[in-house]
Amino acid sequence: MYEIIVKTEFASAHNLRNYNGVCENLHGHNWKVDIVVETKELDRSGLAVDFNLLKEKSNKIATDLDHIYLNEHRAFKTVNPSSENIAKYIFDELVKAMGNSCRVKKITLWETDDAAASYFEE
Ligand SMILES: [Zn+2]
Repeated sequence: MYEIIVKTEFASAHNLRNYNGVCENLHGHNWKVDIVVETKELDRSGLAVDFNLLKEKSNKIATDLDHIYLNEHRAFKTVNPSSENIAKYIFDELVKAMGNSCRVKKITLWETDDAAASYFEE
């Protein structure tokens, strides 16, 4: 198996609903995203996935989440914009964007330098 890893980032605001603590208040993060995809085979060029393609698709998803209030984004009007749910959203969007070119393995979303949530499917 081959793994390809790229990173992207975005900055946005959110607040957690049904949460008793300071994260209930409006605040922002400089979110960092680690994207891991895998393939069984390499293509004729010896590549698992073209970095440029994966970066383009990942950055497009990140741009859609950049400089907004996440609670008003279509994906988070009822779903809480927690790191866990945002990671799953990015995962699902990337699966759609990459099609059959690779398997999206894991999305890790860092909300601070020392706290992250990951989403993956078994
Ligand atoms: Zn937060």
